[in-house]
Formats: sequence, structure tokens, C-alpha cells
Amino acid sequence: MAVTSYAIALGSNRRSRWGSPAETVRAAADALGVERLSRIRRTEALGPAGRGFANAAALLASRLEPPALLAMLKALERDFGRRPGRRWGPRVLDLDILLWSEGAWAGAGLVVPHPAFRVRGFVLEPLAEIAAGWRDPLTGLTMRQLRHRLGAGRPVDPRRPPS
Ligand code: ATP
Ligand code: CA
Ligand code: CA
Repeated sequence: MAVTSYAIALGSNRRSRWGSPAETVRAAADALGVERLSRIRRTEALGPAGRGFANAAALLASRLEPPALLAMLKALERDFGRRPGRRWGPRVLDLDILLWSEGAWAGAGLVVPHPAFRVRGFVLEPLAEIAAGWRDPLTGLTMRQLRHRLGAGRPVDPRRPPS
């Protein structure tokens, strides 16, 4: 396949052998060989027992189709020490496929665009920073517009009927 572009979300809320969650995110971006990395945002932990998150978005050039890229991302998560566990639980590294230049993809265990990215500030903020003009194939809105709507308290969520 020709070279295509992906937007990837990177997140961590546990230390790894690379250091803090932010250092872990940077090391993962280096390992992936991304073309562009947003600033890394730190989100404070909510409860006293929780840990802060580091989140970023990156642009990646790849010839892989989405299922093959997801397999590669999952292998990297394992290399970084992620162990199977609760969804939303503490994890060394989380890599999600947000967008693909070729449009939408839906298959077993993989949906692109990522179904929740439009309602998550920790995803849309870094994504709009590096891909402001990229249009969401489902809603036709750019990342800048989606971020603006979320910031104004009117997130666009095609999974829910408009209220
Ligand atoms: P969320 O997807 O809501 O951010 P999560 O990242 O915590 O949750 P995981 O436990 O990392 O969830 O992944 C659960 C499964 O989601 C993966 O095994 C993968 O098959 C599936 N999945 C579906 N769409 C995507 C996508 N666009 N990117 C990454 N994983 C996806
Ligand atoms: Ca995720
Ligand atoms: Ca994930």
C-alpha cells in the first residue's frame, strides 16, 4: 500500500523504565518514529490514590492498514511493560488510532475514527495542535472545530442523538 497518515493518541499514567509518564510517552513516540508530536499534557490525578496522566497526539506515516498498525501498537504497549488489566486502569502505555488519511475503517475489534475522540479534551486538544485542519470523515468537521465545540460545552458525538 502507498504511504498513508495516521493520528495516534498516546497516554501513560505509570512510571516505566523510561521514567515518568511524560518521559514514557516521549520514548514511545521515538520508538514509533512519528513525524510530529504534540506537546505532552499532564492531567492531575483525580483521587488521592490515582496517578496523573500524560497525554499527547502524534502523526505517523505508514504503509500498514489499520489492523496491522493496531497489532504493531499493541506489541509496542507490551514492550513498554503494559500488562492486560482493567480498562481505564493504570497503564504504562496506551496507544489508540484516532484518524486515518484514507477515511473510516470498521472491523472486528477496531473502529477508526476512534469512537470517543470527539468528546475527550485530553485527545482533541493535542490533536488540534498538530492536525487543526484534518476533517473527521464522520462529521465533516475539522479538529479545530471539534475542539471548539467541546470547549464551548457542545461536544459533537455522532453516537448520541442531538439534544
Ligand atoms: P478507549 O478505547 O475508550 O480509549 P482503552 O484505550 O482504555 O479505551 P483498551 O483496553 O486499550 O481500551 O483497548 C480495548 C480494545 O479497543 C483494543 O483491544 C482494541 O481492539 C479496541 N479498539 C477499537 N478501536 C480502536 C482504535 N481506534 N484504537 C485502538 N484500539 C481500538
Ligand atoms: Ca484509550
Ligand atoms: Ca487503547
